[in-house]
Amino acid sequence: AKLSGKNRVLSFQEIEDGSHYLQTLEMERDLRRALEEDEFELYYQPIVSPHPFAVRGVEALIRWNHPVKGQVSPGLFIPIAEQLGLISDIGRWVLRQAVREMREHVTRHELFLSINVSKRQIADGSFLGELERILHDQTFNPSNLHVEITESEVGGNLYELQQFISSLKAIGVKISLDDFGVGTSSLSFLQSLQLDLIKIDQNFVKGITENTFDRALLEGLYQTFHTLGLDIVTEGVERPEQLAFVLEHSSSLIQGYHYSKPVPLSQLENYLKKVVML
Ligand code: C2E
Ligand code: MG
Ligand code: MG
Ligand code: MG
Repeated sequence: AKLSGKNRVLSFQEIEDGSHYLQTLEMERDLRRALEEDEFELYYQPIVSPHPFAVRGVEALIRWNHPVKGQVSPGLFIPIAEQLGLISDIGRWVLRQAVREMREHVTRHELFLSINVSKRQIADGSFLGELERILHDQTFNPSNLHVEITESEVGGNLYELQQFISSLKAIGVKISLDDFGVGTSSLSFLQSLQLDLIKIDQNFVKGITENTFDRALLEGLYQTFHTLGLDIVTEGVERPEQLAFVLEHSSSLIQGYHYSKPVPLSQLENYLKKVVML
């Protein structure tokens, strides 16, 4: 059975389960309206260099301000948007909005802007052209843009992924591998990709205060990525003990609640102003 979304194919389970079927239909209608009615908003989370302290970049994270349900988390609706074939439309909005909102701050504060891109968007052949046009129209320096690709998603067609990364690198854009440690990539796989930066998933940092094995694992990752000449971001740093561990073992950049949660644009602007005055 095929619904209106391009890649929409219902699974047997969904056909059996009528309620899910209706929910998905409702979600599709809702998501289309959200795009038309401007219900999406970007939050931004600082990515910092801890010592000496400096904000080095920001990650754009989408929020959906649903008129009835309130704020819906991207963890919930992004996978559905992917399934429904709506992710390219949403991704295009994210890119345009983030570049427009951040271009001045990126220049003034010497930041990079990091954007999440899902595999379905990569597969859509129009992504690169659109990206180039947006960067050109907004006179945004491509080397200040990081495209985040999620590790657990990149499996599958290695050649296609290598081509995609090459064409991004040709434009001058940087490549980050997101959520490292959730998927099953081998190091040789990572080496076959022209990555600039690795984001270590927040689960690694969670365990380090209780678990010796996790500590050893994270130390090993820092050494390996350092040897490979990759920049590192440690995600999910919340507590002082976690920060202390990261500081002791790496020169990793840090993204986590310890410094700031993702915040609306106006709050990010206040944060950047305060940082400048420090
Ligand atoms: P992600 O790209 O790995 O983003 C980091 C997530 O970790 C964010 O969740 C952020 O709020 C959360 N986080 C950051 N620091 C901490 C911390 O110290 N503690 C805890 N507990 N969490 C922390 P968020 O904003 O809910 O986004 C979830 C996921 O949704 C993202 O994970 C990303 O995969 C996806 N996503 C968000 N925006 C977009 C987008 O514009 N496009 C696409 N394709 N995916 C997006
Ligand atoms: Mg990300
Ligand atoms: Mg991540
Ligand atoms: Mg993620």
